[in-house]
Amino acid sequence: MTEELNKLVTHWVRPEIRALSAYHVQDASGLVKLDAMENPYTWPDELRDEWARLIRDTDVNRYPDPAASALSERLAETMGVPEGMRLILGNGSDEIIQMIAMSLSGPGRSVLSVDPGFVMYRMIATFCGMHYVGVPLRADDFSLDVPALKQAMDQHQPAVVFLAYPNNPTANLYDEQAIVEIIEAAPGLVVVDEAYAPFTDHSFMSRLGRYDNLVVMRTVSKMGLAGLRLGLLAGPARWLDEFDKVRLPYNVNVLTQVIADFALCHKAVFDEQSRLIRAERVRLLKAFAELPGVQVFPSQANFVLLRTPPGKADAWFSGLKARGVLIKNLNGAHPLLRDCLRPTVGTPEENRRMLEAFVEVAQD
Ligand code: PMP
Repeated sequence: MTEELNKLVTHWVRPEIRALSAYHVQDASGLVKLDAMENPYTWPDELRDEWARLIRDTDVNRYPDPAASALSERLAETMGVPEGMRLILGNGSDEIIQMIAMSLSGPGRSVLSVDPGFVMYRMIATFCGMHYVGVPLRADDFSLDVPALKQAMDQHQPAVVFLAYPNNPTANLYDEQAIVEIIEAAPGLVVVDEAYAPFTDHSFMSRLGRYDNLVVMRTVSKMGLAGLRLGLLAGPARWLDEFDKVRLPYNVNVLTQVIADFALCHKAVFDEQSRLIRAERVRLLKAFAELPGVQVFPSQANFVLLRTPPGKADAWFSGLKARGVLIKNLNGAHPLLRDCLRPTVGTPEENRRMLEAFVEVAQD
């Protein structure tokens, strides 16, 4: 790199962007991939054949339906979006977070969430020139610290509050009443991010319309369609009509629209996969709890948060990797995540391999 090029980039790229490190995705080649909260199951052959036929008959010379009307209707129906609420779709729910932040950004505007939480809330706030306020969760059980949240909302008057329900990376659900208190006290919008909805029976979807400042975000990523990149936001049209203005015209491509619609017509297949994941989650929670010195936190998601004996997380993570199993190491990501690892729930066979590796590293 020449000195001139370096100067040019340093001069023009905003300092807060230069200070970021790009979202890091671990190389999983050849490993049992349990690092990214994906659904491990693929599609049955009959469905793949039908899907291939559909793709063959889909033209890509034209731009997609900009409103993705057919898919939106199907999503509203399958996700139980209440009558009278509007929907907008994104290229993953990540893009929806960005649309919300772009619409609400401005001098002195802030985004508030909890820490440890989903990292993209902070990242996107930074992209959009907003101040990020992270209120720590309670250290013992990762529950919401309502007085601290109210105090922070009072002080910073956030344009938007993001709450992941269940939370990533802690896997727990918050107390419903605590969320209601936040919604009632928030000066601006509250986004309840239900990315992990397939793995819990709790949701705020049916409460839409009861509060002027509540919207609910979902994704199809965790139900088994992460590769399609499709997320959705449901809520009052008054908010969503505004967010729709910053949406790039054809953000959901033709193939995603066709395949997601087809997939949702066969939702029973995914429901069965989610059921298997939930059953395996129970088995994993129990097995992890039997490892000496390990603390396991409750999970309502498709991953588990656990704490190794003091100072062991890095060695266990590397030991698992050496045995062909890739999980997420959270040690160092946040003070409350000291010694924490986050394995995703996989297939029974993947979980067996992972548990075997855990038992071995726990003996070292
Ligand atoms: N919200 C939460 C809480 C997440 O954990 C994730 C992905 N890990 C997302 C949103 C983004 O999901 P996607 O962009 O795949 O829809």
